[in-house]
Amino acid sequence: MITFNKPYYSGKEVDYIQSAVRQGSISGNGDFGRKCQQYLEQRYGFGKCFLTTSCTQALEMAALLCDVKQGDEVIMPSYTFVSTANAFALRGAQIVFADSRPDHPGVDEKRIESLITERTKVIVVVHYAGVACDMDKIMLLAHKYNILVVEDAAQAIDSYYLDQMKRRIPLGAIGHLSTFSFHETKNITCGEGGMLVVNDSRFLQRAEIVWEKGTNRAGFFRGEVAKYSWVDLGSSFVLSEINAAFLWAQLENLDKIQERRMAHWMAYRHALQSWATEMGIVLAGIPEYACHNAHIFYFVCPGLESRENVLKQLKERGVQAVFHYQSLHSSPYFQGGYDGPILSEADKYSDCLIRLPLFFELEPAQVIEKILEVVA
Ligand SMILES: *Cc1c(COP(=O)(O)O)cnc(C)c1O
Repeated sequence: MITFNKPYYSGKEVDYIQSAVRQGSISGNGDFGRKCQQYLEQRYGFGKCFLTTSCTQALEMAALLCDVKQGDEVIMPSYTFVSTANAFALRGAQIVFADSRPDHPGVDEKRIESLITERTKVIVVVHYAGVACDMDKIMLLAHKYNILVVEDAAQAIDSYYLDQMKRRIPLGAIGHLSTFSFHETKNITCGEGGMLVVNDSRFLQRAEIVWEKGTNRAGFFRGEVAKYSWVDLGSSFVLSEINAAFLWAQLENLDKIQERRMAHWMAYRHALQSWATEMGIVLAGIPEYACHNAHIFYFVCPGLESRENVLKQLKERGVQAVFHYQSLHSSPYFQGGYDGPILSEADKYSDCLIRLPLFFELEPAQVIEKILEVVA
């Protein structure tokens, strides 16, 4: 069986965990955590980074920092992971779903403006498969209407947006706030883990407080206050040093991981093009303004029945391919609450998208050989 995912492991992870244990400090915000944060700040020009226990938690921090309250509206794609929506729904927000692009599951920037009202507080973009949303257009809209932008960059480590001058801007460095995931299914991992990036300095002071359970503990340790107390809302968001030590070993190998994943992605792309055309299947599209990080190799089947057929044939051949999100606007939780426009692109990706195995140790030729036998 060729599994869908197998987390990368450099061999140094356990050494670094042992060294954290030997130092006698395994809670959060220690040497390994700070090293990871500084590395990512410098490598990508991010604002301040805060490692969190998951991307889900980083999104919840973002919702708190945006001061989202009952009745505020938050625009996001329907084709996304539940955590994108939960974080804001937990604060009482009304979730307003936007459709995906016809050529890519990311939010269609042209569908956003008509959804904006006086109550719109935040636009959350999701860089699906590490492929950028059209950020220049989205940031322009946000400035025009004075709305905050949160990038759910869970899948987008080491991905870039190409601006009009074709400059490469790292995803996660553009929105007011951004979130990343280091879950075992992502390009680099520490089991469960995530990160909030604060690019807009207005949020910095509060971010530190929210991160530390709503206390001014950080200020206390800097000697700014005499005792530390409850000063705001917050929660237990800080990533433990055990996980941060693991993550450091992965960060040391980021270029190696990315190079290998990209080679696999390209191998799929080249080998499957004529098969796909023949079957009426559309391979992953990368819009001209986007680079990607080989997080997912996906394709879109002509219909639901054909998708189920392809999955079945791949399973029979020992290949674990998988579908992805079910649009949130038609989820059991949201059903009945949705009265917006038909989101036909989101529905298309829910019904027709397939993801192929993609991980460091993969031998793509083994999968390709099986796929070429499949009839859509
Ligand atoms: C993986 C993922 C998340 C959640 O990440 P966790 O670290 O597992 O909480 C959120 N949003 C998107 C788009 C994701 O792919």
